[in-house]
Amino acid sequence: MKAKSPRSPMRALRRVSQGVFLALFTWLVLETGFSESPPQLLELFFDLDPLISLSTWLSARSLAAGSLLALLTLAATALLGRVFCGWICPLGTVHHIASRLRPKKRGRADAEGFSRWQRAKYFLLAALLVMSLFGGHWVGVFDPLSIMCRSLTTLAFPAAQYLVADGANAVYDADPRLGPLRLTLLTEPAYRFARDDVFRVNRQTFAGGLPVLAFFVLIVALNFVRPRFWCRYVCPLGGLLGLFSRRPALRLKNDKDACRNCGRCAKTCPAAAQPHEPGKWLPSECFVCWNCAAECRSDAVAFALESPLTPPAAGRVDLSRRATMAAGVGGVAALAGFRIAPETRGEQPFPSTLLRPPGARAEREFLQRCIQCGACMRVCPTNALHPSALEAGLEGLWTPRMVAKIGYCRQECTLCGQVCPTGAIEHLPLEEKKKVKVGLAAFDVSRCLPYAYGRECIVCEEHCPLSPKAIYVVPVEVTLRDGSKRVIKQPRVDADLCTGCGICEWSCLFQDQAAIRIYSANESRNAKNQPILPGPGIPPAAPPAEAAPPPAGPYGGGETTGAGNASPY
Ligand code: SF4
Ligand code: SF4
Repeated sequence: MKAKSPRSPMRALRRVSQGVFLALFTWLVLETGFSESPPQLLELFFDLDPLISLSTWLSARSLAAGSLLALLTLAATALLGRVFCGWICPLGTVHHIASRLRPKKRGRADAEGFSRWQRAKYFLLAALLVMSLFGGHWVGVFDPLSIMCRSLTTLAFPAAQYLVADGANAVYDADPRLGPLRLTLLTEPAYRFARDDVFRVNRQTFAGGLPVLAFFVLIVALNFVRPRFWCRYVCPLGGLLGLFSRRPALRLKNDKDACRNCGRCAKTCPAAAQPHEPGKWLPSECFVCWNCAAECRSDAVAFALESPLTPPAAGRVDLSRRATMAAGVGGVAALAGFRIAPETRGEQPFPSTLLRPPGARAEREFLQRCIQCGACMRVCPTNALHPSALEAGLEGLWTPRMVAKIGYCRQECTLCGQVCPTGAIEHLPLEEKKKVKVGLAAFDVSRCLPYAYGRECIVCEEHCPLSPKAIYVVPVEVTLRDGSKRVIKQPRVDADLCTGCGICEWSCLFQDQAAIRIYSANESRNAKNQPILPGPGIPPAAPPAEAAPPPAGPYGGGETTGAGNASPY
């Protein structure tokens, strides 16, 4: 029999496809929000993800028109099997590359058969979908596109930025400067190109990025235990696509007569889909990667099209109804556990330091939509947005929060609302966004220089971008240690004007903890967290559409508290 070279055009094509989609996805995350051409293609990727569309629909009871594109993915899967996993998924490609770095066993390794543990991804899928049904949208923690976008944003790009900048600095310092020959003639243009045309934002750094790093390193390292461990055992999107690929038209044929039982096909199969066992190939596990057909030296294994109406001569993953129901119950139990924390119930007491981006929906609806992709964090030009750890409870893991000491919200920017693929942050027109209150600034009088130390300082007042300014100064007479009197300017916050943009906290001279800080009080998205009612002549802000009307508080009927213009002190 003619020995066939392990080179195969289909395998080569699959590798090209994986490389192209990984590069495209990475480029789109880099570009997102900074370019109108091509417009919001990254969102298209998310629209094609049926797991995100389904779970968002279950949790928020709404579906963006673009989400219908997910039907295309499902149709392609029903016809061709899990081609998304084998040919497109950028995280799958990262796992594929990591699997190939796994040290090869010496001698003849046993062919790997299907493990019952591979059913875990179906049970995780069931648990996540049941959670979504009850409004718990944790799918982004496990969705491969969210993982990739989040990890590129919070890990890969910042690391690359640091390498480029520090590398350029190192060359600048070490340059021997021999007459007109300078190394920096090469490195400086490259550095400027990377800064201005590739990364587009200043060096980013993310508070709360460490758990994201640990998670990513863990799932990549698991490829050393089993090839494509994540895709085989954990990925809920893989589970969903597996359910739709039980009877594909593209099927694996195993010719019993030609087969020499060498096991090469099974050893090279990253999915443990049993290509070596005639009649037992598992289409729901197969990534259609073509490795088995490429490796077979006897032409015994090949893919061919058949009518999807004909039952395939293939095996089937047995999902017991009882285990699936137990997984669903587990999802409900997990959600109940998450909601022990008041933060995630969206109820009082509201976490004072949990600041959401402008345009973020009311907390419960925000959590029902956010898929923790990190696109808003990537695009924020001031590095104001960071992945939450437990500030919003476990249910809010890796959702964005504003950390004003690191970055503030720019008046003229609406980028986070523009790039959010699920509408967790609404895309507001600029004039409307400018009116949104993220929170309210308050002075720490035990630190603020004019209050605590009798020293002049109006840095926050100078930085306030509003007109008229939300921070103003009043002359106050203070008594110094020697008993002498002195008039200094003390800053105050105008609660009617302050939008909580955070520039005051960011610019405060105290670098450890600012003497003026933003708290969530008065945030527009939560009518119950607005203790300071509008001052005289100021129309009350319209409550967000989905929020409950403001309760009749102690100053009900729009009566002013009289505290509108005063600082808390
Ligand atoms: S609107 Fe504010 S928080 Fe959102 S991206 Fe722009 S600067 Fe950042
Ligand atoms: S708010 Fe939107 S853009 Fe930001 S992490 Fe959530 S889904 Fe992604």
